[in-house]
Amino acid sequence: QSTLKSIGKDPYPDWKEGDPVPYAALCTTFSKIEMTTKRLEIAAHCSLFLRQVLRLTPNDLLPTIQLMINKLAADYSGIELGIGESLIMKAIGESTGRSLAVIKADQNDIGDLGLVAAKSRSNQPTMFKPKALTVRGVHEGLMGIATTEGQGAQGRKIGAIKKLLSAADAHLAGKGSKGVDITKDKGGPSEAKFIVRTLEGKLRLGLAEKTVLVALAQAMVFHETSEKGNKIPSTEQLAKGERILKSVYSELPSYEVIIPAMLEHGIANLPDKCKLQPGVPLKPMLAKPTKSITEVLDRFEGKNFTCEYKYDGERAQIHFVAHDAAQDYSTTTTAPLAGRSERGIANIFSRNSEDLSKKYPDILAKLPSWVEKGTKSFVLDCETVAWDMVEKKVLPFQQLMTRKRKDVKVEDVKVQVCVFAFDLLFLNGQGLVNKTFRERRELLRKSFIETEGEFAFAAYGDSSELEEIQTLLEESVKGGCEGLMVKMLDGPESSYEPSKRSQNWLKVKKDYLAGVGDSLDLVVLGAYYGKGKRTSWYGAFLLACYNPTTQNYETICNIGTGFSEAILEEFHELLAQHVIEQPKPFYVHSAGNKDQPDVWFEPKFVWEVKTADLTLSPRYKAAAEQLGGAEGKGVSLRFPRFIKLREDKRAEQATTSRMIAEMYQKQESVSKSKGPAVDDDF
Ligand code: ATP
Repeated sequence: QSTLKSIGKDPYPDWKEGDPVPYAALCTTFSKIEMTTKRLEIAAHCSLFLRQVLRLTPNDLLPTIQLMINKLAADYSGIELGIGESLIMKAIGESTGRSLAVIKADQNDIGDLGLVAAKSRSNQPTMFKPKALTVRGVHEGLMGIATTEGQGAQGRKIGAIKKLLSAADAHLAGKGSKGVDITKDKGGPSEAKFIVRTLEGKLRLGLAEKTVLVALAQAMVFHETSEKGNKIPSTEQLAKGERILKSVYSELPSYEVIIPAMLEHGIANLPDKCKLQPGVPLKPMLAKPTKSITEVLDRFEGKNFTCEYKYDGERAQIHFVAHDAAQDYSTTTTAPLAGRSERGIANIFSRNSEDLSKKYPDILAKLPSWVEKGTKSFVLDCETVAWDMVEKKVLPFQQLMTRKRKDVKVEDVKVQVCVFAFDLLFLNGQGLVNKTFRERRELLRKSFIETEGEFAFAAYGDSSELEEIQTLLEESVKGGCEGLMVKMLDGPESSYEPSKRSQNWLKVKKDYLAGVGDSLDLVVLGAYYGKGKRTSWYGAFLLACYNPTTQNYETICNIGTGFSEAILEEFHELLAQHVIEQPKPFYVHSAGNKDQPDVWFEPKFVWEVKTADLTLSPRYKAAAEQLGGAEGKGVSLRFPRFIKLREDKRAEQATTSRMIAEMYQKQESVSKSKGPAVDDDF
């Protein structure tokens, strides 16, 4: 409440108009955010700070937002932090004159490297007071660290981290302070603390990217209103600003494009200036799981819908611009369109907006031959699937996974892929996301040419009869697919909803019809050494789901089934590089001695897991909060089975606690009469 009332006051007084945004100002706001769990307060702190940036130093708005969301650049740039603990510990030691052993001991005690860094701040008197850090300077420094490659990269990275840490908390230098009191206010606004957390790739403030987006919209509306001489915008003006920015961002998720345009043209004009464009991948629309065809029929009753085959491969968004249309698109803010042909330039992006062009040069080479003459530009939504050239049929996903991910040469490609296109989002300079699916599908089929084993349209049937859909489902599975994707065909509900897991797309997977409705994507947090034949590898693992609100990982099960010997060996090699000395403070797990794994890992890998059903258990903490904390019990999986490594998902994209809670509640309401599920171990 007090925060909301204080709207109008600058959160950081020591900064003059035109000065670069002081990093200390951002850290002060971070620290205030860290001290509260109230969503409204968090948003208010954010928006207050952004208003000050807009008024005093709007040119620094972009790096400020990037540091707030902890992403140095748009996803398609491939620039990521997430520096390993040992490298950071070395840099902290070297920049503060403390030995690595002492830093390690501190880390064992405190369990938060950010706080260790804050505590370690050098007390040695320095000849010169270091220059205070600025947001732009920190952003540039971090960019340098994230993009350092090649020989001696480690050393250069440590050097650059040291440089940042030595300049951190300059305002405290010479005051004889014994570092930051980490027992007070979670370490307070220490710059070293936030630099280290940013390097680790995790700010742990409970500050979701969506909140920053909303706060940015609010700040901009406030700023524009006050520039027009009015004091406070109306609730409607604020809501309109939010709606505009959210919708623009969902089509064009690139602050590099949006922020300069917003500053130049104002928030109201954004929809005209910033639209979906080739070269900037949009976040794909996602589907809701269902457990039966009757559930689909219930949900879509009275509507026109279509049932498409659900191909089992890798999601791919293909962008194309013909040479004579290229001048219409800015190349400074888009991904470099990689595939060149005599007709144009093209790119392929993953579900995560990563650039897959180096993985699929074969697709880029053939692409022009699938496009009708005269096509200037398009964005296609599709699935790449491994293809058996002899039998002329799709191959299982595992086959696709054997393809190399980087620097593939067309002549070396062994696993042929066929592209199955299911949506068209942009055509000849026009965004199509607001058209109905029926219209988009017609345009798709008119503008492209099927080529056997290379390019095909997703097969579909438009029936709403249970038996016919059942037959379609069986045929899809016989044809090597996972099941069906059921999509609304007409009306506004059938528009393409970027980044949404929508009610208007339902997935029906054959495998899970009798289970919980879907597989889960879980993060590997720990492992247990194997027994018998498996003693030199890990034999079982501790998995967790992700809670985006608290940014915690909540444990959900141990898993030891579904692994071949070869996979266990491979995972041992992979995971051993990410062992940490103790669980991160944002891992939520039972404290019981016998529940602790032998080793803990950084949250890096996501595994797809199948389960018989869900049960409550005191050993695990998944969704415990959502379910009202039934004696601290969380949801756990019964008979979990490993399916595959999800290379296309980051840890933050794992199944969320909310989804787990929904699955559990749904299962409980169905099986009330069957008696309670029992807790189980692997
Ligand atoms: P989600 O994307 O829903 O988190 P996921 O990545 O595990 O889950 P699935 O649950 O398998 O994916 O279902 C959605 C995915 O199915 C899409 O992201 C896409 O890659 C794939 N897919 C295959 N065929 C189609 C189709 N006809 N329409 C839409 N998506 C399809």
